Amino acid sequence: MIYLKHDEEIELIRVSSLLVCKTLAQIAKVLKIGKTGLEIDKLAEEFIRDHGAIPAFKGYQGFPGTLCISANECVVHGIPSNKPFESGDILSIDCGVVKDGFYGDSAYSFLLGEVSEDVIKLARVTEAALYLGIEQAIVGQRIGDIGQAIQEHAEKRHHYGVVRELVGHGIGKKLHEAPEVPNYGQKGKGPVLKEGLTIAIEPMINQGTRHIKQLKDGWTVVSTDLKASAHYEHTIAVRNNGPEILSDHQMIKDEIKNNSEIIL
Ligand code: MG
Ligand code: MG
Repeated sequence: MIYLKHDEEIELIRVSSLLVCKTLAQIAKVLKIGKTGLEIDKLAEEFIRDHGAIPAFKGYQGFPGTLCISANECVVHGIPSNKPFESGDILSIDCGVVKDGFYGDSAYSFLLGEVSEDVIKLARVTEAALYLGIEQAIVGQRIGDIGQAIQEHAEKRHHYGVVRELVGHGIGKKLHEAPEVPNYGQKGKGPVLKEGLTIAIEPMINQGTRHIKQLKDGWTVVSTDLKASAHYEHTIAVRNNGPEILSDHQMIKDEIKNNSEIIL
């Protein structure tokens, strides 16, 4: 069942999505070599609760953190740990909140210190694929148009691996609602996009193989060849006048400009 949202509901999803990005912007301020995932996870939880919201991931099916922090070969669902961040890390940080009954969900990949050109390119291509997918979120088109655009850019043009097992999703009164939003697909296939559909689009793109495995902690997902992976995510609304991005990465980028240890 796909729930289409009224304007008032979309505004509440926007508020939650912006709080997620404000939280990620706070992280962009303090992220540096030697910090740990547990430190920034604590900061994120406090920031979210100070703003009258609840971290959406904490306790979700037993997940222990406010953030998913996925370093290097980790694709998604990394558990915040006491391992210090290192120069050269690509840190994909995913955050969700619920406020006034509505969820927001967004992710950004931070590049710390001296990151290889190959990984910088992976991040740039993944971010570009996200926006190419969003451009396809037009009333009357289909979910497959979004996935096709992402796959075309990441896989066909740049020969990266597009993860199949994990996908974007509808979002609203639940963190994960119908429909699924795969990062691969065919034009003209899948559910029709309608005014008021709110979805999280989140390409997970691997430098090498698209294949993944889950670690014994029951959460962490890594590429099977242990090459780097990137992840960017926006919560968006399908509107009659075009796709509307409800989250906002610009506030994260503004903080990155002021942090000499983050290069992208
Ligand atoms: Mg997310
Ligand atoms: Mg998501």
